[in-house]
Amino acid sequence: MAATVQQLLAWARGLGLPVLEARMLLEHVSGLDRTRQAAWPETALDDAPAARFQDLAQRRVAGEPVAYLLGSREFFSLEFEVDANVLIPRPETELLVELALERLPADAPCRALDLGTGSGAIAVALARHRPLLAMTAVDRSEAALAVAGRNAARHGAAVRLLASDWYSAVAGERFELIVSNPPYIAAGDVHLEQGDLRFEPRGALTDEADGLAHLRRIVAGAGEHLAPGGWLLFEHGYDQAADCRALLAAAGFAAVQSWQDLAGIERVSGGRLG
Ligand code: GLN
Repeated sequence: MAATVQQLLAWARGLGLPVLEARMLLEHVSGLDRTRQAAWPETALDDAPAARFQDLAQRRVAGEPVAYLLGSREFFSLEFEVDANVLIPRPETELLVELALERLPADAPCRALDLGTGSGAIAVALARHRPLLAMTAVDRSEAALAVAGRNAARHGAAVRLLASDWYSAVAGERFELIVSNPPYIAAGDVHLEQGDLRFEPRGALTDEADGLAHLRRIVAGAGEHLAPGGWLLFEHGYDQAADCRALLAAAGFAAVQSWQDLAGIERVSGGRLG
């Protein structure tokens, strides 16, 4: 007997799944949006989507991130494909995009580099908002680059994607802007064992050290990859802003500053090269 929307939602509630998540998963398998689910709860689903819904609901209750189950996440008002090879784009990272856009001219060509692009969310958002931008995005993970490539194509964004260990593939090149959301969680941080992070690529989250190892490499290499007056902007952890400003100042950056995210946490730091 085919199950109705109402029956499937009641079953999911019994599992302990929040109703909003249940409705999102149901929309994903059936194409019935949440308004139609509410208006016509007696709608019957075919066996295949009903079984798929039950599988996704059980995986969600076991902890898998909603974004991986849906295969997508919105970032900067754009829909991005995501899978377990890439970090799920976070709302706080939109701050990095906004700060970058403030420094990229709307009406002149310029060059930008995104280090550790993952899903390509930052690079694609920048390229979409700056048609004259020559956008380069690198990642050491080929699997991530494949996802980023599909996201760039989906949004018609011109992004040059390169396999690279930070700056290794862009030797000799310079950019007006370098951005990055690198792995900055310290190895022993309890957050790595909680929530969505348990399912995300560990190499996108932690440096397996004190949390600053990759940030040090990014700051150290920026000098020979920025054009005169160019900006380096990067995301970091809630308690790393002072250390990041010190790294930038020691590397000779001017206008060193940190910016708060919507939660009031210093989340992005950066500076301008001489
Ligand atoms: N902001 C992420 C988190 O703490 C970490 C992302 C990263 O390491 N770049 O959930």
